[in-house]
Amino acid sequence: MSPTGSGSAEHRVVQVVLERGPLRPLDYLCPEGLEAVPGMLVRVPFRRNVALGIVVSQDPPEVAFERLREVSELIGPTLQDPQEAVQLLHLLRQRYLATWPQAAQPLLPSARGFLPEAARWEAAAGNDSEAEELLRRAPRQKAAYESLRQGPRTLQAALWRPLLEKGLIVRHRPQRPERPKSTGPQATPAQAAALVALRGTPGGVHLLHGVTGSGKTEIYFRLIEDALQAGRGAILLVPEIALSAQLVALVQERFGRRAAVLHSAVGEGARRSALQRLRQGVADVVVGPRSAIFAPIDAGVVIVDEQHEASYQQDEAPRYHAQDVALLRAARSGATLVLGSATPDLGTYHQARSGAMGLVRLSERIGGRPLPTVRVADLRHTPGRIFSPELHALVSESVSRGQQAILLLNRRGFHPSMVCGNCGQVPTCDDCSVALAYHENGEAVCHLCGHRRKAPGACPACGGRMRLLGTGTQRVAQAAREAWPGARILRLDRDAVRNVGAADEVYRAFRDGEADILVGTQMVAKGFDFPRVTAVGVVVADIGLGQPDFRAAERTFQLLMQVAGRAGRADSPGQAVIQTFDPEHPAIRFAVRHDYEGFAAQELRERERGGYPPFGELLLIGYSGREESAVAALAEQRAAELRVRAPEGVRVLGPVPAPIYRAQGRYRWQTLLLAARREDLRRLAANLPQGDGDPRETPLFDPRQFR
Ligand code: ADP
Ligand code: ZN
Repeated sequence: MSPTGSGSAEHRVVQVVLERGPLRPLDYLCPEGLEAVPGMLVRVPFRRNVALGIVVSQDPPEVAFERLREVSELIGPTLQDPQEAVQLLHLLRQRYLATWPQAAQPLLPSARGFLPEAARWEAAAGNDSEAEELLRRAPRQKAAYESLRQGPRTLQAALWRPLLEKGLIVRHRPQRPERPKSTGPQATPAQAAALVALRGTPGGVHLLHGVTGSGKTEIYFRLIEDALQAGRGAILLVPEIALSAQLVALVQERFGRRAAVLHSAVGEGARRSALQRLRQGVADVVVGPRSAIFAPIDAGVVIVDEQHEASYQQDEAPRYHAQDVALLRAARSGATLVLGSATPDLGTYHQARSGAMGLVRLSERIGGRPLPTVRVADLRHTPGRIFSPELHALVSESVSRGQQAILLLNRRGFHPSMVCGNCGQVPTCDDCSVALAYHENGEAVCHLCGHRRKAPGACPACGGRMRLLGTGTQRVAQAAREAWPGARILRLDRDAVRNVGAADEVYRAFRDGEADILVGTQMVAKGFDFPRVTAVGVVVADIGLGQPDFRAAERTFQLLMQVAGRAGRADSPGQAVIQTFDPEHPAIRFAVRHDYEGFAAQELRERERGGYPPFGELLLIGYSGREESAVAALAEQRAAELRVRAPEGVRVLGPVPAPIYRAQGRYRWQTLLLAARREDLRRLAANLPQGDGDPRETPLFDPRQFR
């Protein structure tokens, strides 16, 4: 095929990727005068509808464009710098193996906030006779124009478009507030020194490694103020809005209306209005979870708080990690990037140690407060007890003094599993190969897919009596009521806070002293700064250690350090008791001593020996489908192909059945690729067929990449 028509028409063909469109970008004709360059948001006809899409390229060498449909509307740049949006699309496709439509997904929601229809317009400065002349034959436009001269207002597209083209109106830009609402405390010498280091290299990337309670938040706020002073905005990422209520409230207090909270759970309306305020320039401080990294603002500083948190990686396609997106955006826009944590993820820490980014430390708590004393209670010595004598004494002391305690067990429900006392059968979910947990309301719940039903009173197979096994948070809460009668107890886990706002309510009640003991899953370990918490107990520390994940020890260590870090943040010193069956495990030994460096050194040595990240690259390829044998056959076939094609230095492990063999009715197999260099994996993966979630239940190709 060769282009037909005039040569000048060639550059008027654009490729547009659609959110729910086909796997490839589609060609469209771009009408004369429309500046649809790559990175622009457009509306295009698709099938019988109009769809939102992003222009990804122009000028294919050969297109038969007489049959192409036309772009219907040019909306505006996806991000302020349209080219940046294109780069992000490429990152999502190459690094995270996303398809085109998947890559477009995270960029489009914020684009939806960009509705020119809702913009306010004002009359442009100019002479009246010219306007008079231009509007002589357009009475409606003239009336609209006259009304704008009284003050800014919104207009229908049918009116603002022609007026804009005639140069008679401009977009109204409200004044930014002069300065942030309130000011913070005077920086401590340690904070001041950290700020000097962070400000020393504007546009640099820094790991801010500060122990729990070392005052990282105030450092973030000062860097945000710097950016605002320089006329730019800021993005502050938090792991999960529901668990960051305290930080979000502080941001709002400090930056007032300039702060915009971006979060899907705030409701579509609120989200849209937050985006609108960003587009208009009224707000310029974005706070949000991982998706907020795609916010359409020019950020002078990007901060990733609690950067080690797993929630920064999306666990469905596109499987991006917000920190990688932040690295790209910051590098492109010259923003300073600050990655904050008391327990940095080991890959990032390794990079900082090897000089790939700055490393700024805060090794003491504010006010010289001590880190909590941590002791181990060996569960092998206290069988059958939920609380060891050590933990019991600690909580009793705290409660009797009118202080507060936090008890962590990373497992929901009352009893995590059931078994028939007669035949030994374990009831599992119909759709998942997962034992059903017994919950206190008498339900049997699948913790993977959420399916709930009434718990069987008798064994479905033999009619024998069911026995309930193990301990979940509900049982801990009940045991706490018995152990500390009179103490007021709150629970924080996904069953206790099933709807939006419920976590906020638990957080508020505990902060306001309406409870003495907070029992919960890892949700209680995150970021809270409660002055009256002096005691922390970990009911069973070993739960995460058995996970088939090379990061199991790292995750457990981080969880223990973080939850212990909730204690003793104000005047009264804190104490923690970690109950475990494995006191010698490095994750526990080093956590007891608050020895991050020691743990990191040992764990990184292990990783290096095994070729695991950050010393190697991993790619997990999952296959899933409803037909057991078809999935296994496909996984085998693909692994054989990979072995043939794999360059030297790439190991192909498997396929093997996935740790959770069946989930939501789909059987799952996986193959793990290990390589010394990312480039090798990327080239190998680039040629893999992409799954498209075909509803005919063919096996689904599901690429995953670990950092
Ligand atoms: P981190 O995020 O490092 O765990 P925070 O930022 O929550 O620590 O700070 C811990 C506590 O110290 C908070 O209560 C905070 O208000 C207080 N704080 C931080 N900086 C200062 C300061 N410069 N002067 C007084 N108090 C401070
Ligand atoms: Zn299930």
